[in-house]
Order: sequence, then structure tokens, then C-alpha cells
Amino acid sequence: MIPVRQYWHLLADYLRPHRLRMVLLAVLLFSGIAFQLINPQIVRSFIDQAIEGADRSDLIRLALTFAVLAVGHQVLSVVATYVAENIGWSATNELRADLAEHCLRLDMGFHKTRTPGEMIERIDGDVTALSNFFSQFVIHVVGNLVLLVGILVLLFRENWLVGLGITIFAGTALLAMVGTQNVALPWWKRVRERSAEFYGFLGEQLGGTEDIRSSGATGFFLHRFTRHLRVWLPDAVRGFMGWAVLWSTNILVFAIGTALVYWLGSRLFGEGTLTIGSVYLVFTYTELLRQPLDRIRHQMEDLQKAGAGISRVEELLATSSRLELQGGSSLRPGPLAVEFDAVTFAYQDGHEDIGEVVLDDVSFTVGPGRVVGVLGRTGSGKTTLARLLTRLYDPIGGRVMLDGVSIRATATGDLRRGVGMVTQDVQLFRASVRDNLTFFDPGAADETIMEVLFDLGLADWVYSLSDGLDTQLESGSGGLSAGEAQLLAFTRIFLKDPGLVILDEASSRLDPATEQLIERAVDKLLAERTGIIIAHRLATVTRADEILILDRGRVVEFGERKTLAADPDSRFSAFLRAGLEEMLA
Ligand code: ATP
Ligand code: MG
Repeated sequence: MIPVRQYWHLLADYLRPHRLRMVLLAVLLFSGIAFQLINPQIVRSFIDQAIEGADRSDLIRLALTFAVLAVGHQVLSVVATYVAENIGWSATNELRADLAEHCLRLDMGFHKTRTPGEMIERIDGDVTALSNFFSQFVIHVVGNLVLLVGILVLLFRENWLVGLGITIFAGTALLAMVGTQNVALPWWKRVRERSAEFYGFLGEQLGGTEDIRSSGATGFFLHRFTRHLRVWLPDAVRGFMGWAVLWSTNILVFAIGTALVYWLGSRLFGEGTLTIGSVYLVFTYTELLRQPLDRIRHQMEDLQKAGAGISRVEELLATSSRLELQGGSSLRPGPLAVEFDAVTFAYQDGHEDIGEVVLDDVSFTVGPGRVVGVLGRTGSGKTTLARLLTRLYDPIGGRVMLDGVSIRATATGDLRRGVGMVTQDVQLFRASVRDNLTFFDPGAADETIMEVLFDLGLADWVYSLSDGLDTQLESGSGGLSAGEAQLLAFTRIFLKDPGLVILDEASSRLDPATEQLIERAVDKLLAERTGIIIAHRLATVTRADEILILDRGRVVEFGERKTLAADPDSRFSAFLRAGLEEMLA
């Protein structure tokens, strides 16, 4: 039921560095409880002594002790909460970081099947539930259990009948509260699910605002919006009703408890077994029970939530990447030779079943420093080929080799340094131009960046920005045109200086001025490097030494560009005659 052991197992490593603080926490917590338990005893003495007509100075001393202990208890509980939150968050932050790092290492198949919302929930939501659980588990469960037991023991010491009565009361109260909670909570869970569905829906719609409005689908989405709200409403009402029932059960139970104490108290006082001060003591202790009982009930719920969180976190950590590293060969700097050896690939998104074959027995070689132009209709597998080279996926058959070594055996860092890719739609981050260019590498000097920008003809553009390199870009396309975004991506590649450049050309058309800039940039980019350019425009193709034509995942033509162009029977020359743009549409 309570996943304490599992939880401990998971967090033990993360908690170990905080051992000292945990000891401190325990000390704070237990002193606070002691203060809380001692205080009613002082009041009892005060009442009894006052009735017996004790000295004023004695009474004042008691009152002062009471005040000190009461304030002390409050201070201790504040400090204890601070320490517990601190431990909880430091420990779970490390877990968050580990989870995030683990997820970044997983293959793209994993990421494609999960929405951003789900990833956030997995990495942050579940862990936050754990950290709440931790701080509250220690403070509320351990603390309150000790408090509960302490109260009962002290009551027994006072009078066994009172002790027994209150123990039975506490037991029944807890059972009654947990019982109603078990009825009410599923209702509440339903409300949470509804709200998650609603926000998921909303997030998706807001992301697509531009498309929805331009396609005139506003009415349709408003309709779905109201449908969500309509399902949500009855569930929400029932959920809140559940809370109300839970709440009134609590009040009722404690009303019964108070009545019990009054009854027992008046009888025992009448018999002369208890002094009036002791009756007060019993009354206060019973009132004091309210908090631990309520907390423990409440924590039952959190414990269950944390249990679900734990198993999800463990599952995520156990998910292994389909990309296994088989060695740590290094890549030498300079132009790289590329070889595809009978590569077959199918996307395998999340599930075990393999999808349609996207690349089928693809073989070709490109010498170091050579440039191959990849052509093919949309969906023929060009981008996929590039993804295999950057090892976002591994092929299901055959080998991808750089400089004669399978990239499975190449150290990941070397591969990332050695291969640069400009994708069809460039992703920019909500950060400064500088960070976008250097990928947040603070080591890159401004002069180097400006030099590259100047070389690429982008210097004027940067000067035109309000804050130069410090100008903040927006996320997504960064508020830039497709051409500008591509040029920024080129700059990234230059700064990284890889031996192999993969250029997945955007299929959108560019204005002539930008096109010229891009042509120049591509020329510079390909100098002294091996290039794989996925071309959608004739101008790009003419730069290639070799041409590779893909059709439905198969290589249907591969050869030297000049030879193919001169051969009237080749597909390439047919492409050239018909006009590349038309053929590839
Ligand atoms: P374009 O010229 O439009 O860019 P492409 O040649 O780059 O097309 P790919 O993106 O490689 O085509 O896609 C090849 C095939 O693989 C297509 O049928 C596509 O539907 C499929 N595909 C692409 N990406 C994925 C993915 N992440 N998961 C599953 N299938 C995919
Ligand atoms: Mg593509």
C-alpha cells in the first residue's frame, strides 16, 4: 500500500549527501513535538495550582514557561518545514536533472511518441509529487504519528479509562475518515483527468491558432471547447461535493470526540479521580489529535500519488535507448568519407512493431571532400537518410560508416562535433542571437561570431538588430524568414566546423536576394568538407560532384553528376530537362 520502501530505494542515493540535514530535521521535529506535548501539562499545573491558591510568582513562572514553549514550537516547525523542503527539493532536483539527461539520450522514436506535455509531467510532475511526498512524509506522517502515539501514551498515564476511550475514538475516527476519503477521492481524480484533458486540448489549439483561424475552423473549435466544459461541469460538481462530505465527516467525528471527553471528564471529575486541570489536559490532547489524524488521512492520498509517481519514474529510468554505443572510436578532424552499406530502415515509434520500410537496401560511398546531391520526390526518404547519419536513429539493417568506422562505434561527442546538419525547418530558441548561434557555448568569442556572420553576408542583418548579438529571438522560427533562419543555421555549422555537412534544403522558395546569400554561404560551407545536400533547387544541385536519386526508399540512380547529365537516358538528365522544381513537386 504505502510505497515507502520503493520510495526509499529510489531516493536513497539522492538523499545520502543530505544526511546531516536530515539528522537536523529529525532533531527539530521531535523537539517541536515534545514542546507541543509538554505545554498542556503546564497549563494543567497552572489551573490546579491556581485553584489551590498557589503563589503568584509560581503561576507567573508557569505562564512564562508556557509562552516560551509555545513560541518555541512555532519557530521549530517553521525551521523544520524549511529544512524539509530544502532537502526534498535538492534531492529531487538531482533526480530531475538525471531524468532529463536520460531522456535526452533516448532515441527519437521515444520522443516522437510523447507530447511535450507528457514529458513535462513525467520529468517535473511526477518528481514534484515525490518531493512533496518527501517533505510531507517526514513532517506530517512521521511527525504526526509520533505526536499521536505521544498523546495517547500521556492520556493513558493520566487515567487508563480516558486513554482507552480516546484510543478507541482515534481508531474509529481514522477509519471513518479514510472510508469517506476512499469514496470521494475517485470523484476528485476524475475532475483532475478532465482538467488535464481540457488543458491538453487548449494547448494544442493555441499552438495551432494561426492554422485554425486561417482555415476558418474557429466555430468548430469553439464547439469542441464547450463540449469539454460540458463534460467537466458535472464531474467538478460531484468532485467538490465529495470534498464537502469529507469535510463534514471530519467535523462530525470530532464533535463526537469532544462530547466523549466532556462526558468522561465530568464523570471522573465528579468521582474525584481527575482534577479540573487534568480534565482540561485531556480536552486539549483530544483537540491536539485532530491535526495528526487529519494529516495522516490526507497523506494516505499523497502516498498513493507518490506511489504512482515512483513507478513511472522508475519505468522512465529503465527505458533504454535503442541507440546503443558499441565503442568509443574517435573521428579525426577534416573532411570525412561517408559510406552507406546496405542500409535498411523503418520508423519504429515507441511500440515494438516496425513500420513501413522507409529506406530499402541503400548503399553508396562518398569520398572525403566530395559533395553528393540527394534528389527524390517528397516522402522518398531523404530527410530520413540524414537522420541516420546524425544517428538520431539506428538502421534496422546494414551499416552507416564515417571514415570507414560504423557510427555505432563512434563516440557520441565526436559524432556530434564531426557532423553538422541544417534541417528543413530550423529550430530557434527563445534566447539571444549569440546563444542561438553558439548553442549556449559561452566560450565563443564575439569576434569569431561576427567574422563568420560577415563571411556569410549576415553582418548587415545583425547590425540592423536593435541589440546586435544580444537581441532576443522568439522560439520556433524566431520571428525570422525561412531564409534568415537557414543562414543562422549555417552560421551555427561554421562555428562548429564539422568534417561532414548535411544540408536538408527547405522546400519553400526564397526571394532572390536571400537565395544569393544562401548560395554564397553554401559554397563556403562546402569548401574543405564532405557535403550531403538534399536539394530542392537546381542551383544547389549544380554544386554536387555526385548525384543520388531516391525513389520510395531505394537508390534508383547514383553516379557522377557530369556523367549523368551527359547521358540522355539517365533519370538525372530527365530531371534537368523537365526542370527540377517541377519533377520534385
Ligand atoms: P521531403 O522532400 O518532403 O522532405 P523526404 O524525402 O525528406 O521528403 P522523409 O522525411 O525522409 O521524406 O520521409 C520518408 C518517409 O518516412 C515518409 O513516408 C514519411 O511519412 C515517413 N516518416 C518520416 N518521418 C517519420 C517519423 N518520425 N515517424 C514515422 N514515419 C516517418
Ligand atoms: Mg525531408
